[in-house]
Amino acid sequence: MPLLVMKFGGTSVADLARIENAAKKVQKEVERGYDVIVIVSAMSGETNKLVGFVEGTSKLYDAREYDAVVASGENVTAGLMALRLQEMGVPARSWQGWQVPIQTTAQHGSARFVDIPRANIDAKFKEGFKVAVVAGFQGVSPEGRITTLGRGGSDTTAVAFAAAFGAERCDIYTDVDGVYTTDPRVSSKARKLEKIAFEEMLELASLGAKVLQTRSVELAMRYKVRLRVLSSFEDTDETSGTLVCDEEEIMESKVVSGVAFSREEAKITLFTIEDRPGVASAIFGPLADAGVNVDMIVQNISEKDYDDAHPGAVTDMTFSCPINQVDRARKAMEDAKAAGKIGYDELIVDTDVAKVSVVGIGMRSHAGVAAKMFNALSAENINIKVISTSEIKISVLIDRKYMELAVQALHDAFDLDKA
Ligand code: ADP
Ligand code: ASP
Ligand code: MG
Repeated sequence: MPLLVMKFGGTSVADLARIENAAKKVQKEVERGYDVIVIVSAMSGETNKLVGFVEGTSKLYDAREYDAVVASGENVTAGLMALRLQEMGVPARSWQGWQVPIQTTAQHGSARFVDIPRANIDAKFKEGFKVAVVAGFQGVSPEGRITTLGRGGSDTTAVAFAAAFGAERCDIYTDVDGVYTTDPRVSSKARKLEKIAFEEMLELASLGAKVLQTRSVELAMRYKVRLRVLSSFEDTDETSGTLVCDEEEIMESKVVSGVAFSREEAKITLFTIEDRPGVASAIFGPLADAGVNVDMIVQNISEKDYDDAHPGAVTDMTFSCPINQVDRARKAMEDAKAAGKIGYDELIVDTDVAKVSVVGIGMRSHAGVAAKMFNALSAENINIKVISTSEIKISVLIDRKYMELAVQALHDAFDLDKA
């Protein structure tokens, strides 16, 4: 029997009426002859509420108990979806992670899949069940404790199930009708893409476009899953939405295909550090040990180059990291200073920054993208604080108050509203 994976995100299952609406889409596929694995998120707002409960109870919480609490949102939706399908005459059964069992690593709060054994769910399909409704975002550690996969993790559950069960396609139903050139909530000129290459989607996701969790795109790319993003609120068919696929499947691609942004950034500068071999490692080693995900880095040029004649040369070091890791980063630096491993005069944190990025595989073969980007930002008088580039993306850190303006300016500069 051909099999489909259908994933419904939080807003798509936000209340009983929406669960019914989603269930109808599932029923339609069953009537077409598919066995269906449905992956559900928690009802919209539930996970935030559960995270709030944990943080309100324990500041330095035990991550195992965090997972035990926040995984529960998905359990409710899975049961309700199975019930709704049964009411509609569709044989369905719900599955929590441990019942599959979805095996993950023990990294609570950001666990990774180890294995998804098929036997239990396959047995139910053989019994005549048509739908397995699986709670997204969760699994079970080698010690048998509940784990979660990081925010947005139900996307990754969906792709992992599609790979494990050899699904014909993995459909991600959400509150937009596809992947756009930028977040349609920020730019009204955003244009829906028919197709997007895995590499580009991976960059957009990791640079802040939360329409798909980054890890889900990685898995889809690795296991060649046909991944589609489409609307749960509209009538859809096989041609709806955006297909995330191999570059080769896309006939024509632009130099830049999308603009991504992230508000959750912070910038930290260490003023007057020594400019000598080993200083970067003395700074970024302790940050890594403290679990800080350093993103962009700039080191100022020193007044004098370090050499034997100028052993006292000094410089400044700036880096960015997620805003919720600032306290950890500051403590790691203060501890390293107190231990005499680094020296700096002042540590300054700027939490009013945002990262804006342009992404496109066409950049590999086209020069001038950076110049065009900087020109567009300068025309709006937006100052760039930090820059970083890779083969298919350019990112800048700017004042957060200019973020929307920057997104729109870049969208215009690269003509992304035009096909
Ligand atoms: P779900 O709850 O279904 O998982 P999310 O809120 O996680 O949905 O992701 C969908 C949201 O992603 C959209 O509402 C949209 O605001 C946002 N988004 C950001 N960038 C993009 C983009 N390039 N294309 C489409 N949506 C985007
Ligand atoms: N409910 C989880 C979250 O809000 C997982 C998901 O929706 O993908 O992050
Ligand atoms: Mg999501």
